[in-house]
Amino acid sequence: MFQPDLLRDKRILITGGGTGLGKAMAQRFLELGATLYICGRRQEVLAATVAELNPIAPGRIRSIPCDVRDLPRVEEMISTIWKGGPLDIVVNNAAGNFMARTEELTPGAFEAVLGIVLMGTINITMACGRKWLSAKHPGVILNIAATYADTGSAYVVPSAMAKAGVVALTRSLAVEWGNRGVRMNAIAPGPIPTEGAFSRLLPRPELEKFALARNPLGRFGTAGELANLATFLVSDASGYINGEVVVMDGGEWLQGAGEFSAIGRELTDKDWELFKPRKAR
Ligand code: NAP
Repeated sequence: MFQPDLLRDKRILITGGGTGLGKAMAQRFLELGATLYICGRRQEVLAATVAELNPIAPGRIRSIPCDVRDLPRVEEMISTIWKGGPLDIVVNNAAGNFMARTEELTPGAFEAVLGIVLMGTINITMACGRKWLSAKHPGVILNIAATYADTGSAYVVPSAMAKAGVVALTRSLAVEWGNRGVRMNAIAPGPIPTEGAFSRLLPRPELEKFALARNPLGRFGTAGELANLATFLVSDASGYINGEVVVMDGGEWLQGAGEFSAIGRELTDKDWELFKPRKAR
């Protein structure tokens, strides 16, 4: 669906690009001509992804181990990348999350998730944003949020808090930096099977079945679908979209929000007869 050179000459950093959705975006961006940097904490995971994706575009993907919570390390990574030329696009995708009853969480658990998701996004955004603004170089930032950033969600409270902050950052900087050439959007994905997310959030088949049953499309999203949307949002084709949070969840959150959605699904044909006007029965 995209021109094969859509991202030619674009230099892109994806945090958490060694696995899951980050890796899927890396693959799609490479196929469309971009030069890629991926970062994460585990060097061996990054190296394996580089080895796997390199044949698509030899020499156009590099990895840098970096914990996005560590500001001096982030600034070092960004300086290293900039030595080869400025980045054009950043995808803040790195995250941590797990299910827990909130009263059982330690302060360290809140700190870990808020540190990666919110502070990590801020660290990378500030390091790149300051360089773009001072050099008057255009930049695009795509943040990976979650549908519960707006609604909140029980049992993933640190993640919900952090993603809400990421969405506020997205909308705020889209306005503050927009007239200086930096565009910022977010994707709020629904459930998409990845080893990282599903092993921690839906670790048993019956939980997956439950999640499928509440999705209007009756299926999970795919990493390829996410990569397509991300490609559009980082490309010049979406140049007038700024400060937007695009939901990609098969309609899941709307189904949860609609007062009668769940009740209606439980009704039989006979039950529906009761709702018809007397004359139509
Ligand atoms: P994933 O494979 O676990 O991806 C998370 C990535 O972040 C990993 O590569 C991880 O690598 C990296 N990471 C974690 N902590 C880091 C740190 N401190 N510094 C640098 N990198 C770090 O899970 P995913 O499903 O692809 O998730 C990708 C994004 O989509 C996340 O933002 C997630 O919240 C969002 N999302 C996913 C779903 C879904 O259903 N899959 C739904 C809604 C939102 P290391 O461990 O090596 O650091």
